[in-house]
Amino acid sequence: MEFNTKLLHGKSISKHANREILPPISQVTAFRYESMEELEKVFAHKSMGYAYSRIGNPTLSAFEIRINELEGGMGAVCCSSGMSAVATALLAVCKSGDEIIAGSGLYGGTIDLFHDLEKLGIHTVFLNSLDKDSVREHINERTAVVFGELISNPSLKVIDIPEVAGAAHEAGIPLFVDSTTATPYLARPLSLGADVVIHSTSKYINGGGNSIGGVIVDGGRFAWNFEKHTSLSEFKRYGKGAFLVRLKTDVWENLGGCMAPANAFLTYIGLDTLGLRMDRICDNAGKLAGALQRMAGIEVNYLGLPGHPYHEYVDKELSGRGGGILTFRAGSKERAFSIINALKYALIASNIGDLRTLVIHPASTLYIHSNESEREAAGVYEDTIRVSVGIEDAKDLISDFTEAIQAADGT
Ligand SMILES: *Cc1c(COP(=O)(O)O)cnc(C)c1O
Repeated sequence: MEFNTKLLHGKSISKHANREILPPISQVTAFRYESMEELEKVFAHKSMGYAYSRIGNPTLSAFEIRINELEGGMGAVCCSSGMSAVATALLAVCKSGDEIIAGSGLYGGTIDLFHDLEKLGIHTVFLNSLDKDSVREHINERTAVVFGELISNPSLKVIDIPEVAGAAHEAGIPLFVDSTTATPYLARPLSLGADVVIHSTSKYINGGGNSIGGVIVDGGRFAWNFEKHTSLSEFKRYGKGAFLVRLKTDVWENLGGCMAPANAFLTYIGLDTLGLRMDRICDNAGKLAGALQRMAGIEVNYLGLPGHPYHEYVDKELSGRGGGILTFRAGSKERAFSIINALKYALIASNIGDLRTLVIHPASTLYIHSNESEREAAGVYEDTIRVSVGIEDAKDLISDFTEAIQAADGT
């Protein structure tokens, strides 16, 4: 089955009690049982069943099973947000005294989270480029996990997953990949060698901009060393499943960051059209990047452009697609603001992955808490504009940006 067929007819499309085509929204806090013995069995994991929506809900399961099939994982849990997914995944494997090795051009919220973890005694080493040599150089006995964004937002650097996973695995360390900007349509990080995949479903997976959510998918292939990853030692009997079991029955449950059932339903529907939307979004992004590149005083950063430093990965890891995000430098903050303000169709908004084209000036918003070196590592300068390209007609998008640049320049 190809991607779009699998999306609609894959084996993970659950059957529902009343033959509903979509999963019913189980908008409940708890589930009732006929006898105390039955509920006892559910709590003891001796029979399948739901008890309380923070620790399991059928609408969430329907979504989890489906995203797990698309990513080729062993199991998934969905979270209240992308940040909740990143935090929960890291807290399931790190303890005080551990180190995280991370790329540097990361999502601003994730950088802020690493600063928070610092206060819990978990230190992050940010590498300018998350490649095999620098990973090898920085791994030490305290390293618990290597973390990176497949396509970093907004710097648009790409991780060479087979190489970085190889370097991490040599030292007995897993590789966690935030694949939000790549989506399961463009890339399958687990099949390239990553161990855990994380998405903010608020973006492309939902696609309609109607709910916040996140998901963690465990590949289930990493051979945990329980001497090193002592936070998992209690789950040793599950072997390669130890991380997933700790996640589901311990950290995810106890941090309480479950996805809301209504959001799981909306995200489930969004996922139906992921392939269609990504084809259109990537086509539009390529056309808009090409048009912007021909304009005076504009410097474009788009993976799909042949001159991009990470362009080779478009074919190697991203199914030949350049993704839906591009950034461009306008020359000054003032010109950047004037261009953004003159746009008619592109909305000024802080998210990405919507059906609608969205723009933002990251330095004054998403990176307001970051210092200058963090900003530059993220490809964020005073004059940078980030565009999350939508599904409008390319012709209209190109004229919107062309006219906004002309208006900003008074020409
Ligand atoms: C948006 C985003 C997040 C955070 O997700 P939320 O759903 O906003 O919490 C994490 N990583 C990346 C790459 C993102 O774009």
